[in-house]
Formats: sequence, C-alpha cells, structure tokens
Amino acid sequence: MMESNKRDIRALTEEELKSFFTEHGYKPFHGKQVYEWLWKKAATEFSVMSNLSKEARQLLDNRFRIDRLTLYQEQTSRDGTVKMAFQTADGELIESVLIPGKDRATACISSQIGCKLACTFCATGKIPFKRNLTVGEIYDQVIAVRQKALDLYNISLSNIVYMGMGEPLLNYDGVSGSIAVLTGEKGLGISPRRITVSTVGIPDVIRKLADQGIRSELAVSLHSALDATRSQLVPINRRYGLETLKEALQHFNRVTGKRITFEYLLMRGVNDQLSEARALADYSRNFPVKINLIEYNEVEGTGFQKSDAEQTQAFKELLESRNMIVNLRRSRGEDIDAACGQLAGKGKKS
Ligand code: SF4
Repeated sequence: MMESNKRDIRALTEEELKSFFTEHGYKPFHGKQVYEWLWKKAATEFSVMSNLSKEARQLLDNRFRIDRLTLYQEQTSRDGTVKMAFQTADGELIESVLIPGKDRATACISSQIGCKLACTFCATGKIPFKRNLTVGEIYDQVIAVRQKALDLYNISLSNIVYMGMGEPLLNYDGVSGSIAVLTGEKGLGISPRRITVSTVGIPDVIRKLADQGIRSELAVSLHSALDATRSQLVPINRRYGLETLKEALQHFNRVTGKRITFEYLLMRGVNDQLSEARALADYSRNFPVKINLIEYNEVEGTGFQKSDAEQTQAFKELLESRNMIVNLRRSRGEDIDAACGQLAGKGKKS
C-alpha cells in the first residue's frame, strides 16, 4: 500500500536529492549515492544503501517510499515469449513482454495505463486510459524483464522497445526520463541505439525528441500510407495526416541522421492490397526507412484477420522490387495473448 505522507523518492532528480541532503545537514554527494542506488543498482529498500550512515538511511525512510511494481501474473508461450502483468503501487495493471532470440533478448514495455488513441485493431485501445506511467514504473519493467531473461534463458537483455500499452509520445516526461536513466552513466548505461520508441506518430513530439537530443531509435506504426485507410485504423491520423507526419519524420531524420522503422500489421482485405504496398513504397521514399511487416495477432472483437501467406508474400515482393528494406515478422506469443494490452486487459477484475 502507498503511504500517503511519504513521497516516492524516484520522482526526485539527482539535483533534488542533493538539495534534500544539504537541507538536512549532509554533504550533497549523498544525493549522488542515493541516485546510483536507485537507478544503477535498482535498490528497492533504503536499508541496502550501505555507503550511507544508519541515520541517513533512517532519514530517507522517514520521508520517502520507493514505489515498486509487483508481479501479478506471468505466462510463457510455446515459442519462449514471456508475458508479465505487473501491479502498480496504486493497484493498476500493466504489462511487459520478454521476447527471447537466439543470442538476444528484447523487452517490450508499457508507457501508459490504457490508451487514449483507440486504434481499431488494438487490444489496449479498448482499455480506458488511466494515467501515464512514472519513470520508476517504466524502469522497473526493464529490470524485471532483464532478470527474467537471465533466469530463464541465461541471456543478457539486448534491446528495449516502448511498444507495450499506451502511446509513448503522449507520456513524454516518463519516456524521456526513463531513457535518461536507462542510458545514463549513473543509471544502467544501455546504448540508446538499443532502445526503440514506437509511436503511432505524434508529429510535434517526434520533432521534440530530435530537438532535445534523445538518440534512441524511432519506429512508427504506420499500417497504411493512404490517409483513408490509416484514419480507420489509427484514428489520430484524422488530426495529423500522413503529410504532417512525413514532415516531422523528415525533420527527425535531418537532425538525428537516423533511419526510421515503419511497423506495418498486415490485415486481410484492409491494408494488404498491392495498391497499399505501392502507396507505402512511395511514402517511404521521403527518408531512409526499414519496413517491418508483421503478422496480425488477431484480437477478439475487432473483426480484423491476419493476411494470408500468399498476399503477404506478394506485398513483400512488391516492396522489394522497389528496393525497400523489408523484414517479415512472425507474431510472437500467439498462444498467450501477446498482442499488446491483452494480458492486462484479461487480468482486470473490474
Ligand atoms: S496501437 Fe498503441 S496507440 Fe493505438 S490504441 Fe494501441 S496502444 Fe494505443
């Protein structure tokens, strides 16, 4: 349970921790020590902070709490994918997925509880939006998935994708703050090249990522390069059409020099026609891109179905004939509700 008279210490910056200590008659370097305990060593209790005096630890314990995620449910797929649902300190459920590979392991993590954007093919879009996740809640998912990869498969976590519940760019502070602690020297020290932010495309925030020096990779859930189709699948496209998105992506590429990844779920008769492939190839000429074609993991109640194998192949070949870099991705964890939002959605009691 949350203790309301105490503050979650992970909401404080390193500077704020230093000020706290100086205000209480300690040296500011204790702030740096605590910061490293929290973000480098993932401490969950003040009592383990062994380079602080007993009095300093007591002071922290009197004033602060460390909000943690607790494991609520876990499912392992036949293909080794592990889906974990976590409970937040205020009793909400979120989910993360470990996707193991031959010599790599990817953590797919959530950025919000529910989602406001209601994409029509998505399970999370049916979970009402509650709130943004904090930096600590995003970080804890990485720590838990990293540990799971070691325990189950003896593999170090190699990649992190913000592709779980929620639209990361609508939680800019939580996402940029968590990237800072995941990549920072006083945090986990992970290379930003191993982190991908996956968005449906919020143009202003894409520009902001580039302008504020965030150098993680960017994936855009495109799903169609025709406004009429895309607006049906991704309703926010009615507000920011493909042209506005294109300009933001060109800006991102100019500033960061990075290639953009397009995620494209292939849905039968909806966006898998060759006219859609041609539109995608034309749109992709505006910047360097890599296209991930993904088998749709059917979601109850949406009415969408995965594209058949022949159509998928024809779609891919058309893109390749236009010299696009294309990967075909199988769905992972199909037998365990591994489409985004499905585990947390089912776990909800209310
Ligand atoms: S696809 Fe992403 S942005 Fe769209 S509803 Fe699902 S979680 Fe939200």
